[in-house]
Amino acid sequence: MSSVAVIGAGLVGCLAALGLSNRGYDVTIYELRDDPRKSHNKNLRSINLAVSDRGINALRYVDPTFAAKILSKVIPMSGRMIHKYNGELESQQYDLHGKSINSIDRSFLNEELLNEVESKGISVNFNHKLSSVNLDSAKPLLRFETLTSPVVNVDFVIGADGSFSKVRQELQKFVRMDYSQEYIDCAYLELSIPADEEGKFLLDKNHLHIWPRSSFMLIALPNIDGSFTSTFFAPWELIESLNEDSKILEFFQKEFPDSVKLIGKESLLHAFHHHPKGKLLSLKCNKYNYEDKVLIIGDAAHSMVPFYGQGMNCGFEDVFVLLELLEKNSDHLKKSFDEYTRTRHEDLLAIVDLAIGNYKEMSHKVNSKIFLIKKKIDFL
Ligand code: FAD
Repeated sequence: MSSVAVIGAGLVGCLAALGLSNRGYDVTIYELRDDPRKSHNKNLRSINLAVSDRGINALRYVDPTFAAKILSKVIPMSGRMIHKYNGELESQQYDLHGKSINSIDRSFLNEELLNEVESKGISVNFNHKLSSVNLDSAKPLLRFETLTSPVVNVDFVIGADGSFSKVRQELQKFVRMDYSQEYIDCAYLELSIPADEEGKFLLDKNHLHIWPRSSFMLIALPNIDGSFTSTFFAPWELIESLNEDSKILEFFQKEFPDSVKLIGKESLLHAFHHHPKGKLLSLKCNKYNYEDKVLIIGDAAHSMVPFYGQGMNCGFEDVFVLLELLEKNSDHLKKSFDEYTRTRHEDLLAIVDLAIGNYKEMSHKVNSKIFLIKKKIDFL
């Protein structure tokens, strides 16, 4: 069977490696960073993600037993809990039939994927930064910024190397790729709401909590240890103006009064002074492949703002779509990759746009009565 280099051992690269290995491909992963499972690499902040049916279906398609293991560690969120200015709470269910999205710890998921990958005999080369892909030769020729095995020849390459993808950059030299990217005027900062002294949740654990305030908002997703990971989203000018303890506390007390007690003053100030402020990017491109030699998936192909909670889910779905096409086309690579580009593009454009749309909804419209009435009509 053909040999494949998967570039990137993030969530999507690992799932792609598992799926391709299950089909009998000879898979090797190359990853820029060190092994995240080593204790000195552990990120002590608990960052979580919402995994939805789109992602779960892909996980199940690749390996139902592995999917069940992952799903045993999620917290279902059946709706949004809106925290209003006056302290009132309003639950808005996502689905008439009680379907949920699910909160999961990002590092747990990545580490379990890596464990699974290695248990299947797939080799993962950490500290291997891809520097170029030459597609002029019969087989793709990969170069890495490393002393051990700097040059590698494989039958094809899967680029799952994230928003700033080197594979995508290299692909652009060989195909007429339409490409656009846009930074939105919004930064994010990770905060945390701890569990109470008995380890219990301080908020209802089966909701995604939102404090919507027009141009900025706070959200919180539950973790299995009783804490919540909270994220503050705001325009850059606003977030950068909160640069003194008194300004930060005054702002949070005025805008999100119940949150200050939940997060704790010291922890809030620590986050503002020490946690990085992240930028948010929306990225579209087309085509996604070069013949049967390269295909890009995940954030490398469609980075989206996180307000629809679908970046990873959609990347997992990319893997599902690819595997189904390989099945349908009896592993004819060119046919499958060309069909992937042809049939997947419209859906990817739609989800990138929906993500921006949901930003407007979460930050502003969830407060609006007209929107809520309309939403119910849309929903029915
Ligand atoms: P990445 O996770 O970026 O992984 C790419 C990997 O490639 C990295 O390990 C990187 O080190 C490696 N790499 C990069 N360059 C090279 C190179 N040159 N050589 C070798 N390796 C390289 N999505 C959801 O579905 N649900 C959510 O609730 C959600 N919440 C989010 C909240 C926030 C605040 C943000 C910012 C994003 C959120 N997302 C969410 C999106 C999700 O995080 C991404 O879509 C997902 O991580 C993409 O996975 P990936 O594997 O494609 O890319």
